[in-house]
Amino acid sequence: MRTAVVGAGVVGLSTAYALLRHGSDAVVFETGKPMSARSAGSSRIFRLAHGDPGLVAYAAAAAGLWADWTHRAGNRLVGQQTTVITGPNARDWAEAMTDAGVDHTLVDEVDPSLGLPVPELPGPALIDPAGGVIDAPATGRFLRAAIGNRVREEHIYRIVPHDDWVEVHGSGGVHEVDHVVIAAGRGSLELAAQVDLYLPTELSHHARFTFRLKEPDAVPPCWIDGTQSWRDGITSYQHVSGPGLWSIGLNMPPDAEAWELGREEVVEESRDLARTYVRETLVGVTDEIVEEIYCDSPSTLGDGIHVATTGPVTAVWGAHLFKHAPAIGQTLANAAINDVSPQLPPAE
Ligand SMILES: Cc1cc2nc3c(=O)[nH]c(=O)nc-3n(C[C@H](O)[C@H](O)[C@H](O)COP(=O)(O)OP(=O)(O)OC[C@H]3O[C@@H](n4cnc5c(N)ncnc54)[C@H](O)[C@@H]3O)c2cc1C
Repeated sequence: MRTAVVGAGVVGLSTAYALLRHGSDAVVFETGKPMSARSAGSSRIFRLAHGDPGLVAYAAAAAGLWADWTHRAGNRLVGQQTTVITGPNARDWAEAMTDAGVDHTLVDEVDPSLGLPVPELPGPALIDPAGGVIDAPATGRFLRAAIGNRVREEHIYRIVPHDDWVEVHGSGGVHEVDHVVIAAGRGSLELAAQVDLYLPTELSHHARFTFRLKEPDAVPPCWIDGTQSWRDGITSYQHVSGPGLWSIGLNMPPDAEAWELGREEVVEESRDLARTYVRETLVGVTDEIVEEIYCDSPSTLGDGIHVATTGPVTAVWGAHLFKHAPAIGQTLANAAINDVSPQLPPAE
């Protein structure tokens, strides 16, 4: 059995990796550079904490696979910083973690012992001890080394399904395969529509900025802050992204990130806001930006993994897929090999 995976982001590479590990044939088609679209940059946050026990359990399965990958890669792919969630989600997510039976602590006050780079913040806070920073480039290197020459530089522009096989038309020719997994990020919308799978089309602009920690040896926990304690409508995610480096993504109200505003305007606004936020709030961080990354983001999706299948073609999409990637790959590979629908937890 042969599967074509469209897209060499973390989801496509994980899927090909799982297929090959199960002894099934797979080829990945990538129009640009692997790991350079929504999977770009130095780091991501891993967390078990979610609002749904099924997603918590799915993240726990991913954690097991991350540990296996770490072992095979010979270097740690997910750090041990822990992840802290502050704001209204803390209590609900703690409940979901209780239901899923995974370790966590819920505290009423955010105090300095948590190590966050802020002097004070209203509680409660949820501490997820399994959370930490994912090393994104090391993950890409591990997967690419394992997949080898099964990644082809080729743009896929047409998918024609037949009853039990598929024609995949790419810039390098026409390929005949048994299954197709569309994991092409933004490119998935167009390809999936060709087989009557309609993914949400609404996009927004998003940028993440990296600053320096004043204490270069400090290792604060990853932090997802939903308190809106700085400004109404602004939440954030933050984490160490290298020695002495602190990356911050601010989530602005939807009309401030809207696609129609254009990349430049949204990034400029976001950059100014991030600098002001650091200056006014984060005592442990300097306000000079040392790195920034941009991506288009599916704007209406929260946590969760979405898949749709028609005949031999499956499309996968979501907003926060990196942490789940090893488990998504496994799920999609199992479904392709056993010719069944992929089983995933309900999306939030
Ligand atoms: C700044 C930022 C912070 C984030 N933080 C987190 C986080 O903390 N935790 C988390 O879990 N997630 C996070 N995410 C989300 C996560 O990174 C993405 O959900 C994940 O990387 C998506 O991977 P993907 O493989 O689906 O898509 P992509 O990485 O976009 O890969 C799709 C690939 O398909 C290729 N492609 C497109 N069209 C075609 C075509 N027609 N033919 C061939 N190839 C094609 C593209 O070139 C691309 O390489 C963050 C994202 C960003 C940008």
